[in-house]
Amino acid sequence: MTRPDAPHDTTATHHMTYPLHIIEVAIPLYLDRTFHYLVPEHLQPEALSGRRALVPFGRRQLTGYILGSVTDTAIENLKEITGILDRENLWTPGELEFFRWTAAYYQHPLGEVVRTALPAGINIQTRKGSTNGQETLTGGKNARHEKFYLPGTIVDPPRQPGVKALEVLAVIREAGDISGAELRKRFGVCAPQLKRLVELGMITVEEREVYRDPFKNCTVERDEPRRLHTHQKAALDVIADSLDSQRFTPFLLYGVTGSGKTEVYLQAIAHALELGRNALVLVPEIALTPQLTGRFQARFGGGIAILHSALSDGERYDEWRRIRRGLARIVIGARSAIFAPLDRIGIIIVDEEHEASFKQSDGLRYNARDLALVRGRMEQAAVVLGSATPSVTTIHAADEGRLTLLELPERVEGRPMPQVDLVAMKGSKETISKELSACLTGTYAQGHQAIVFLNRRGFATFLVCADCGKPLTCPNCSVTLTYHRQRGQSLCHYCDYAVPAPGTCPSCGGTTLSELGAGTEKLEQELKGLLPAARILRMDSDTTSGKGSHERLLSRMNDGSADILVGTQMIAKGHDFPEVTLVGVVNAETSLGMPDFRAAERTFQLLSQVIGRAGRGENPGRVIVQALDTEHYAIKAAAEHDAAGFYRQELEFRREAGYPPFAHLAAFAVSGLSEQAVSAQADTTARLLMQLKSEMKLRVEILGPAPSPIYRLRNRFRRQILLKGANRSELHRLLKAWRQRTATVSTVRISVDIDPVDMM
Ligand code: ADP
Ligand code: ZN
Repeated sequence: MTRPDAPHDTTATHHMTYPLHIIEVAIPLYLDRTFHYLVPEHLQPEALSGRRALVPFGRRQLTGYILGSVTDTAIENLKEITGILDRENLWTPGELEFFRWTAAYYQHPLGEVVRTALPAGINIQTRKGSTNGQETLTGGKNARHEKFYLPGTIVDPPRQPGVKALEVLAVIREAGDISGAELRKRFGVCAPQLKRLVELGMITVEEREVYRDPFKNCTVERDEPRRLHTHQKAALDVIADSLDSQRFTPFLLYGVTGSGKTEVYLQAIAHALELGRNALVLVPEIALTPQLTGRFQARFGGGIAILHSALSDGERYDEWRRIRRGLARIVIGARSAIFAPLDRIGIIIVDEEHEASFKQSDGLRYNARDLALVRGRMEQAAVVLGSATPSVTTIHAADEGRLTLLELPERVEGRPMPQVDLVAMKGSKETISKELSACLTGTYAQGHQAIVFLNRRGFATFLVCADCGKPLTCPNCSVTLTYHRQRGQSLCHYCDYAVPAPGTCPSCGGTTLSELGAGTEKLEQELKGLLPAARILRMDSDTTSGKGSHERLLSRMNDGSADILVGTQMIAKGHDFPEVTLVGVVNAETSLGMPDFRAAERTFQLLSQVIGRAGRGENPGRVIVQALDTEHYAIKAAAEHDAAGFYRQELEFRREAGYPPFAHLAAFAVSGLSEQAVSAQADTTARLLMQLKSEMKLRVEILGPAPSPIYRLRNRFRRQILLKGANRSELHRLLKAWRQRTATVSTVRISVDIDPVDMM
């Protein structure tokens, strides 16, 4: 952030009539600065850091976040704040410090960072009040409840409500928010009082979709800590020592699939709780299943907050407040949970730390895995990055001793890693090889379960016109359309553009469209042909869009009411199905062809994870990997369980090519509707960067501008400039200098992604 300042559009000078109190406020606007305001006397007791204030800004009143008070500043031209929006502090000083760090590192306005960190439900404008107090119980898993809560601002109410209404209000105040059913239980009929309170603006009604966690209703069977095996014990002891020392220590818990990492997390968390400290657990969204959360609930009972994307704004806000009030000492969530209002953090776990989903792809483009280390350092916490396939960067950090390496090289109870066979598919037209179909038949006959993985949804990869030879492409994006037979559509996986399919060729009007390549839909159909009596499930984003559908599919695998699970990368990760003895991989190289320096790394990780689903129970596992290029080092290493070999080779490549971890990256994305304007702006940007670089004598490589791999996306043309710097601070200085010198052009968007993950 640049130096805080007064709002530039001030009109009146302030006359000092009471002891001076000046605060620094961050405003959620795209401005690289914070602002100073005066606090009128009657608001002074409440104008504390970590609360929201209503502040005049130009002709508007905006919500600002109070960062702290200021002493050494001129008071001329300062405006007064209008009100304070919170009765309790939303943030601790330590959290505000974390936001400042984040804003500075990602070069993002501090006010926007704080806004990103707040649950959406807290904003008054997002809470649409409704006086309809009707409760609609839909039954089943999802039910609607109306809830009553205090809006953020309660200034003096204009008229006094009656006695009963005041009692109702007191209960709502006490509870923060409460369901209509709960109020009726206490007060009997109270609809008129509620109506009155709503009219007075003292409470608001919201209809909320309440997702009933299956584990909330049935009593979770409590489980006891397991006796750890030697490696688990060694790892836990080291983590426990660091917790006792109350010093920041970053760890890599590198354990093969099924080695018992989760058990180590659980016991390390138990140790932190005993020390009176709290725990933050970050997992990829896809891993936030009842299976994982159930293991935590079984071990710790209540006191856990789970933040997943299916929460409504209101529910998210509830969880947020529960955490802030210290009612949840363990927080489990996807990337945004890194901003959870949890204090006294003793341990932060980042499970599957290699996952790309820890990176936010728009707005504040943070990486929760990286921020876990930052927040952990500030909190003097232990940070455990866990994975069976750590990122290449993480392996390198462990090699260099910047992370303490803890290894779990074996599966629990001495279970062997599965035997893997590579099947060369070059020249073959089959989707399922003879080898795989023989194994599937055998596994089914034995009554075991199988997983078949193909990382492409839809039926065919795309349709090609037999007359002109052109593939069907999206009119808005430069990608081919995927053919979905069940939906009868060709679909763009980027912008959701859809046309009836097979249809006709848009280029020549040809009517013979042939299918090329296979997706999960076709694979499912072929498996049904192969084993007509088998119960086959398909899991991809087409079959899991409904609420709870993901869980339903997984539970059918768990309870044995399915024989084969077909799917995309969704099935590859984290699941523990002990009855799965066979895994088939169809087309191992789907992710290799990407123009991305991490393509080999991703392929290795994905294959290792899928392979790791086999043989986790008592029966040994078998894996068939079909690939066009069985000699590729990423595929070979995964099949041979040779992680060390893969990392060695990949690090060599990165060093030679100058990619992370041997360089730091920043990506400029220039996009807009006019191809010419985008091209011109990209050139101007690159020229300015070159000029600044030579003026400041910075060792930064500037690549591009070049068309982005997906040149057109949702109608926007895209160009990118990649910055590579061996020295991080020089790279950041260049970015900062560019920001100060650049003027935004309204028709073209320029976004800067620091430590980019998505290179497309
Ligand atoms: P990972 O997270 O490394 O893939 P998990 O933690 O899921 O592995 O462990 C795999 C299986 O082994 C789970 O069913 C778990 O309950 C079990 N397990 C873990 N540790 C032990 C142990 N020490 N003794 C017996 N079973 C264990
Ligand atoms: Zn599209």
